[in-house]
Amino acid sequence: MADTTLDDFRSEVTTFLDDHAPRREASVAFAWGEGDDDVALFEEITPEEEQRQLTEAKAWLATRAKADLHWIAGPTDLGGRGLTSAHEALYRSLETRYQVPNQGFFGIGFGMVAPTILAHATEPVKQRYLPAMYSGDIVGCQLFSEPGAGSDLAGLQTKAERDGDEWLITGQKVWTSGAHYSDIGEIICRTDPDLPKHAGLTGFVVDMHAPGVEVRPLRQMTGGASFNEVFFDEVRVPDDHRLGDVNQGWTVALTTLMNERASIGGGGGGGGGMGLASASRLIQMLQHFGLDQDPVARQELARLYTGYQVAKYTNQRAAAKLKAGGLPGPELSIGKLALTANLTATGDFVARVLGPRLMADTGEWGTYAWSTFICGTPGMRIAGGSDETLRNIIGERVLGLPKEPGIDSKSPFKDIAKS
Ligand SMILES: Cc1cc2nc3c(=O)[nH]c(=O)nc-3n(C[C@H](O)[C@H](O)[C@H](O)COP(=O)(O)OP(=O)(O)OC[C@H]3O[C@@H](n4cnc5c(N)ncnc54)[C@H](O)[C@@H]3O)c2cc1C
Repeated sequence: MADTTLDDFRSEVTTFLDDHAPRREASVAFAWGEGDDDVALFEEITPEEEQRQLTEAKAWLATRAKADLHWIAGPTDLGGRGLTSAHEALYRSLETRYQVPNQGFFGIGFGMVAPTILAHATEPVKQRYLPAMYSGDIVGCQLFSEPGAGSDLAGLQTKAERDGDEWLITGQKVWTSGAHYSDIGEIICRTDPDLPKHAGLTGFVVDMHAPGVEVRPLRQMTGGASFNEVFFDEVRVPDDHRLGDVNQGWTVALTTLMNERASIGGGGGGGGGMGLASASRLIQMLQHFGLDQDPVARQELARLYTGYQVAKYTNQRAAAKLKAGGLPGPELSIGKLALTANLTATGDFVARVLGPRLMADTGEWGTYAWSTFICGTPGMRIAGGSDETLRNIIGERVLGLPKEPGIDSKSPFKDIAKS
């Protein structure tokens, strides 16, 4: 199976997609951006509609699983197809040409939680959760941030205390995307406050339906409620659900964060595709408002195009490094920064074209979704490492600037002042 050529795989996937999903209407021919996705970010939808979309997305993954096209680069002993990341990328690119359900529900699970489980979990946990995640049976979320620990993640205070073969987790997480429809979460807890803050952490896989877990939605300025605060009150987790060794949770968290930057920055918006705001959509908008021959509008569109192309090549450089066996490096931080810069520039462009129409939902083409896009973009500048945090990383690791002063990483955590 591992010798399936890319050409053979392309035919197999095209046949599968032709059999199971309608093709998208051909969009304006232009060399970037495939598909014509909804541009809204973190938009408001009813719980019923969200549930309907989730059910549809799970059904689509089940269909892919029946054709062995759900975990293309995954190891065969865990139910994966055992092909390469190039096959995986080819599948994704072909799928964008078809109208398939929104698979964003699985973004965190596939992009961050599953790779961490694969790298650090015990064998029974891998067997129990990875096939179920990739075939859409269960959804995963990332339980890292806390009210007093975001950019300074190692300052987290949710504790896990050993109780025989189990651990008891108590504390609060916040900004947990998708916690309200997730079945499992990857959580980082403090297991030894006598150690310095990076040293006393441990990762676990926690059952989001376990007694003592309470999920409360948080409303965003877009009107949506895609993230939550999550409370843990002596939640029991078996020791075999531990990720990595006790007090080695920082390494586990770094695995997730690297994958997070790769999956956010390397996604459509940071890379070659316009992704969230396809080129065809912007061109249609200019045509709709009679601006497609306007030299300033055309120049701005070309500048956006350049930004997306630069991001695409940076991401390809990072991908090539990973493929060659290298470790993910600061390119991922640059990719994430490029994503938010491109999204912000896209929002500015759209705001100039639409003017006051942006805020007035007159029913005219696209105006409401664009206002949601613009209100949602600042969240993207924070999620997965804020712009400032990423610039610090680049300053230190690429430019060789001295490390930021003032972060106490040597004293026992219990002796450090907490927020
Ligand atoms: C849409 C969205 C989805 C999210 N989903 C999840 C999720 O699923 N799971 C999860 O665990 N978390 C999630 N988060 C949380 C996210 O990881 C944190 O918001 C982020 O790490 C920043 O932490 P904070 O909000 O505590 O802000 P803070 O760390 O308090 O930062 C506040 C401001 O100060 C700046 N700042 C902080 N430290 C420095 C410094 N050393 N130098 C310069 N500037 C600095 C920051 O850039 C920011 O502008 C999500 C956030 C958003 C917006």
